[in-house]
Amino acid sequence: MSTSIISFSIQKSLESKINQVDWENLPFGKVFSDHLFLMEYSDGQWQEGAIIPFAPIPMHPAMSAIHYGQSIFEGLKAYKNKAGEITIFRPDMNAKRFKESAERMCMPPVSEEIFVEAIRKLVELDANWVTDKEGYSLYIRPYMFATDEYVGIKASDTYKFMIITSPVGAYYSEPVRIKIEEHYTRAATGGVGRAKAAGNYGASLYPAKQCQIQGFHQLLWTDAKEHKYIEESGTMNIMFQIGGKLITPSEDSDTILRGITKRSLIDLVLTWGIEVEERKVTVEEIVLAARNGTLEDAFGVGTAATIAQVAVIGYRDELLEMPAIETRTLSNKIKAHMDALKMGEIEDTFGWNFKV
Ligand SMILES: *Cc1c(COP(=O)(O)O)cnc(C)c1O
Repeated sequence: MSTSIISFSIQKSLESKINQVDWENLPFGKVFSDHLFLMEYSDGQWQEGAIIPFAPIPMHPAMSAIHYGQSIFEGLKAYKNKAGEITIFRPDMNAKRFKESAERMCMPPVSEEIFVEAIRKLVELDANWVTDKEGYSLYIRPYMFATDEYVGIKASDTYKFMIITSPVGAYYSEPVRIKIEEHYTRAATGGVGRAKAAGNYGASLYPAKQCQIQGFHQLLWTDAKEHKYIEESGTMNIMFQIGGKLITPSEDSDTILRGITKRSLIDLVLTWGIEVEERKVTVEEIVLAARNGTLEDAFGVGTAATIAQVAVIGYRDELLEMPAIETRTLSNKIKAHMDALKMGEIEDTFGWNFKV
């Protein structure tokens, strides 16, 4: 990749905050590294990017993103392997998706080269925030939002593209309880479900809160029109295992986020000779399989958790118990393989680990 020509201005922080980090009790997403990346769009183009000390940024009260929601984001992770190398998992894929989200939200695209190089440079500068402690990584959050100082509904003429990073431990500590949602929806055909647009997450909080009151962690979203087809779980893609086959909702509707973890896992298990079906998945078939004991596994997949195995599926008044975690041979194997791959313990045959 010809990234060497891209340069950013760099202003280093005078004092690192790293000694204040309590690594044993690290809350997810609340601790941030020493620097951030900032690039502004104005006069019809992206200006020179800068890495600066992590600090609050000034905000105009009429900043359009907070009024009309032109705001998108990404999420990916950097790992430190036993050899001391820092790698980032498939940042080129996040760069592509960020461009797609931007297009859907009428925002200016960030070139893949600049997106990846900005992340690389930021992680390189804050390299000591990436620890090789088991299960830990540096969560990377690129995002873009509209900054016009204007209370009127139109696509903004100015934007900020920023990247912050946060050291994190394991995301979910226990298998998740999920509930099949038949009233609220995450995304409708023709909407913005495929984009990683900030508003999608604000809209999901109320339904998620209702299911949490009922003792679940997350929802299993169904299609907006009939509530007949399964789409995603919370902010993860969902996979089921029946008769040894992996089954996952297809991406051809524009309501499902095109997960990089999901795509990677599919490519991986295909090399193991596992059959994968990407198609419409009905609520009915999953409920029937769970009732008659043929649902061998169900797990959410995404960057934050990699794999979150499902303990219980709630369906109307029923609680469908899933098999014991020890029996989930395939998902346990995938998880172990992905962890080992990211930690450089096995050969990276796909070339997914991007070296910083
Ligand atoms: C980010 C996200 C995912 C997972 O995508 P990854 O690229 O695997 O992290 C799945 N669903 C939703 C709604 C998401 O926002």
